[in-house]
Amino acid sequence: MVVLAGFSVVVSQTKPAPRRPAPVRNRAIANIVREIDARNIEATIRKLVSFGTRNTLSEQNDPKRGIGAARDWLYAEFLKAAAASNGRMTVEKQSYEQAKAARVPQPTIVTNVVATLKGSQPEATDRIYVVSGHYDSMCNTPVDAKCDAPGANDDASGTAAVLEMARVMAKYEFDATIVFMAVAGEEQSLLGSTHFAEQAKEKNWNIDAMFTNDIVGNTLGGNGVRDRGTVRVFSEGVPSNETPAEATTRRSVGGENDSASRQLARFIKETSEAFVPQMKVMMVYRRDRYGRGGDHIPFLEHGYPAVRFTEVNEEFRHQHQNVRVENGVQFGDLPEFVDFAYVANVARVNAASLAALAWAPSRPKGVTILSQRLSNDTELKWDANKEPELAGYEIVWRDTTAAVWTNSKAVGNVTSFTMKGMSKDNYFFGVRAIDKDGNRSPVSYPKPLVRSQPAATPSSM
Ligand SMILES: [Zn+2]
Repeated sequence: MVVLAGFSVVVSQTKPAPRRPAPVRNRAIANIVREIDARNIEATIRKLVSFGTRNTLSEQNDPKRGIGAARDWLYAEFLKAAAASNGRMTVEKQSYEQAKAARVPQPTIVTNVVATLKGSQPEATDRIYVVSGHYDSMCNTPVDAKCDAPGANDDASGTAAVLEMARVMAKYEFDATIVFMAVAGEEQSLLGSTHFAEQAKEKNWNIDAMFTNDIVGNTLGGNGVRDRGTVRVFSEGVPSNETPAEATTRRSVGGENDSASRQLARFIKETSEAFVPQMKVMMVYRRDRYGRGGDHIPFLEHGYPAVRFTEVNEEFRHQHQNVRVENGVQFGDLPEFVDFAYVANVARVNAASLAALAWAPSRPKGVTILSQRLSNDTELKWDANKEPELAGYEIVWRDTTAAVWTNSKAVGNVTSFTMKGMSKDNYFFGVRAIDKDGNRSPVSYPKPLVRSQPAATPSSM
């Protein structure tokens, strides 16, 4: 047994006893969760379905039918939400002309509706969290602009969740900035989200996390399983934008289970357990469903941490189908198959996590493990956070085979710490920042810092 400052750690070759921190009770987050209302979500989904089709190639100037009507209605609704923000939320239509492409037979205007709730803390306002759903829809084929494509679940559900979050959260003041977004062109191959991610990269925006909500409303799967209490969160392990040099490092020291996106998924799980106990977050350790994609992928490819939310059991008779009855079976993505209370719970998981992120300090930057010196201790270093209400840092760790962080230790307001007697060979370590109200950042996973002058002693080899 090794005694560290005011804290004892059992060090042995066996698994350390789990010591997970008690969840922080933040009253404002609990209020946000409570204010999310399934009735608003139902009304939004029904309204979006009423436009007949929201195919990206459909009518842009008809006030009643097509994607243009949906776009203008969403813009007006986000503006209503912004009215409660005291000028902190602004709403814009972000448009560009998409050239002819595989699923775009002629040049087409693609428009994202983007509501930005500016953060109030000078040190954090440039840190951005993005949450999206896609408001376009499709029937059997993405190039049929005329068919009815209600898209109640895919993806009016995600769009309605985002609009409801904007309505509730616009009243609150966050340290960091939150972007609530309804994108188009998803079914045409992620056009709207790609455009946004490219713009963000070009403008050097500091997007610290992105959530996409896509197909978050069906609770009776095609497999006959009813699950109203679980949502999947997909996160990639190896980053989509990993460089060859980073791959070499990862092969040497590990980390294929510790991308920033995976830390984000763990953060969402921990936050959700504290604030939305009626929902279970099922982390799926892959980028998306098997061989499929979504609007988080362009963000990942541009180096932004991102995850996807989706129901657990999909029903493919209600996705990408012409509305019809065949042998007594109803096909089509109709509102009668959406569980509005469940969508509200998914929105609560999102909102609690976004609020926790936007009130927490930034995840520590420049986190390294000193790697050249052979030692049974683990020396960690990081850069100081700049937020004024910072209280300090926690080191977290787990066995290399564990799915989530199992242990943590508060180390005070310092920028280096040595875990004595705990070898970096035997555990994964991480660092997170914590503020005076107990808000914790997601975990930063360290990179190895190789010293030019090896300090290994012969006795330690
Ligand atoms: Zn979708």
